Amino acid sequence: MAIVEDYLTSLPSKPISSGASTDDVREYLSAVTFDRGTDPVRALTYVAEGFERFHVHNAHPRYMGLFLPASSTMGIAADTLAALFNPVLASRQFSPFAVEMEEHLLRLWAERFGYNQRETDGVFASGGSECNYTALVSALCHSFPSWRHSGVRGLTGEPVLYVSAEGHHSFVKAARLAGLGDACVRWVPVDGDLRLDLAALEDIIRADRAAGRQPFLIVATAGTTNAGIVDPIAALAEIAAREEMWFHVDAAWGGAAVLLPELREEFTGIERADSIAFDPHKWLSVPMGAGMFLTRHSGFLEKVFSVDDPYMPRPGSTAEPADFYRRSMQWARRFIGLKLFLTLAVAGWDGYRAVIRHQVAMGALLRDKLEEAGFVVENRTPLPVICFTDRDQAGGADDLRTRAIAAHVVKSGRAWISTTRIGPRGRMVLRAAVTSFRTSEGDVEEVLGAIQEARRSIDDFGAEHAGE
Ligand SMILES: *Cc1c(COP(=O)(O)O)cnc(C)c1O
Repeated sequence: MAIVEDYLTSLPSKPISSGASTDDVREYLSAVTFDRGTDPVRALTYVAEGFERFHVHNAHPRYMGLFLPASSTMGIAADTLAALFNPVLASRQFSPFAVEMEEHLLRLWAERFGYNQRETDGVFASGGSECNYTALVSALCHSFPSWRHSGVRGLTGEPVLYVSAEGHHSFVKAARLAGLGDACVRWVPVDGDLRLDLAALEDIIRADRAAGRQPFLIVATAGTTNAGIVDPIAALAEIAAREEMWFHVDAAWGGAAVLLPELREEFTGIERADSIAFDPHKWLSVPMGAGMFLTRHSGFLEKVFSVDDPYMPRPGSTAEPADFYRRSMQWARRFIGLKLFLTLAVAGWDGYRAVIRHQVAMGALLRDKLEEAGFVVENRTPLPVICFTDRDQAGGADDLRTRAIAAHVVKSGRAWISTTRIGPRGRMVLRAAVTSFRTSEGDVEEVLGAIQEARRSIDDFGAEHAGE
């Protein structure tokens, strides 16, 4: 516990990353050979020091990288309790309290997304990737009745799925694992606002059908990883319904914003999704990994995953949902729901709403400040992800300069931002995302300061070396 307290109090004043190399880490670890046991306090201190020296502190309020937030304090406590009681989530008979707690959370979250509580089905998962995989196999099972028995060998046409070119690459893994291969994923072009282009989608579907392929799944991304873009969900729901395809919304990160009435409109149509992927370990700030897969078809997951095993308890009364092991990839699964339950219990819906609203506001503040400082914001989203460039007089932004700014910021230890590529031509941009509930206005100022200092130092360097 002292380790936890020390870390949380000293974190804001620490450099975010140390720039240590893999060799440095290996050298530190090479001292441990396990030839003889050591005392527990020494072992714990050694690990804490290792984190201190080598970790990129993604829990830091000025870490603005990928969606790897600081853990809620109740989440940290919950993971310890989960380890203490160590319930297995496979079966209600072994772990009635844990299983029902997860069922309760799944029902309540289903309602937040506009599903009818009584008709939904869902499971906790390791994260968005597993949820997207679950969506893909659910769609296969739905569209191809022979799939469950014969797999892809039994299919007559080539199945294809559609996701925005800005969508998540877990669909490639999912397609490979399902035996379909990369080629079944259609990366649909995006429009000028980086949203999935509806006309392009319809053209591709038409061409696929004409070629005898079998479109079976449309994915809307609600908050892209790259640029926080929300696809036109309602229009995609419409197309999916007309084309008789499974409609999945990947709301892994952005889904948390459904709690805010002022942003709810962005998500209109999500209640029509056949399934939703949502990661509490992203914007809800519970420790990794915590994914949530929801579908509005009750009983459907059993069609995909149910198996019988002689050593597992017989299914109980039919009034109860089937055991989780019959509705999920996972079997002996960890208690994922507790960290969400305890965090939500302490915060309440209003508390969560306030935290999410605060992060949206910090994103807006950083966006405004960057524009004031002459940077060009390249993405349009109300969510707190800012993609921006530092254009030169000719209006260009060269990749070398963009990379140099990010590297300089990271090296300063004051903030952490990254680069990514967006849009059809893969423009390189700087990317900053508010991921911590502890990010304050002062932190935003400091991040901006680090970015401006990076820009100045690169300009000075350029001036010194001009004419060389
Ligand atoms: C993070 C993310 C994923 C992958 O989720 P994991 O929890 O990392 O497996 C999928 N889709 C989107 C939009 C994401 O942001």
